[in-house]
Amino acid sequence: MAHNLTTLMLGSSVFTLVVALALYLRLLDSKSVSEAEKKCKAVFVTVYVSLLFTALSVLNRSILDATIYIPVLFITTQSLIGLFFDRRAEGFVRFEIGEDVYTVRLLGKRRITAFTLVLNKKMYASSYLVRALTPQEISSIMAHEAGHINAFKPIPVSLAMIVYVSLLALSISGAINMALDGYIHYSAIALLAAFYAWVIFSWTWEHIADIYAYKYTGLSAVLVLQKITRTTPAKPSIADIVVSILKSLKPTRAGGPLVNPHPPPSIRLWLLLNIATSSPH
Ligand SMILES: [Zn+2]
Repeated sequence: MAHNLTTLMLGSSVFTLVVALALYLRLLDSKSVSEAEKKCKAVFVTVYVSLLFTALSVLNRSILDATIYIPVLFITTQSLIGLFFDRRAEGFVRFEIGEDVYTVRLLGKRRITAFTLVLNKKMYASSYLVRALTPQEISSIMAHEAGHINAFKPIPVSLAMIVYVSLLALSISGAINMALDGYIHYSAIALLAAFYAWVIFSWTWEHIADIYAYKYTGLSAVLVLQKITRTTPAKPSIADIVVSILKSLKPTRAGGPLVNPHPPPSIRLWLLLNIATSSPH
């Protein structure tokens, strides 16, 4: 791609990312569930636009076939992980949130954990979680997991994820390609933009799941988060957020790149309490 066009695309990507960051900060001041949900969706849209610009800025012929194999690889991987966990499941529980019924498969892990494979909408929780928490607390955690699945409504979560993962993978592979061609500075900016987009997306996805849990299970959603994470709510400054995002680069105990980075629990609690103390009941 011509230099000028690359610069324009990359500049647009960084600009949109700054907008996403500004929208993310405003999200933290939300006063109601509906306001927070709208702001989360606004962050998602800007992150997608930013990733699209990043992908376009580094796109060239040699990575075009990636648009086909990345979704296939993603779907296959998620299905295989699902099969792996299904074989290890010790049992299951069913629960209802709103009008939907969900099945949660129980795994024999010795700590409180719950996660969802969104592509095939499979939820998992440790049997320890079911033993250690009260039914109300379990409902809140399950509602949070359901919130991940319902985050992009009316767009199906599978479509949202496939587009997102493809854009992210195209951006990264394109950026690496550019570095190999000698355009180190373009490549570095594209990689950083893709990385920031990934973290802001994941953080917002976590918040919208928290908000969903609050919508269906009320204050228990706040209390269980406080209980599990043992933190107090704190309003972050823009500098805190930029630094925390950079810290997400560090691999976690939970299992590196397979796990989406989470916002610090103090920020999650801050947003939930902000909504809880402002919403009329
Ligand atoms: Zn979550």
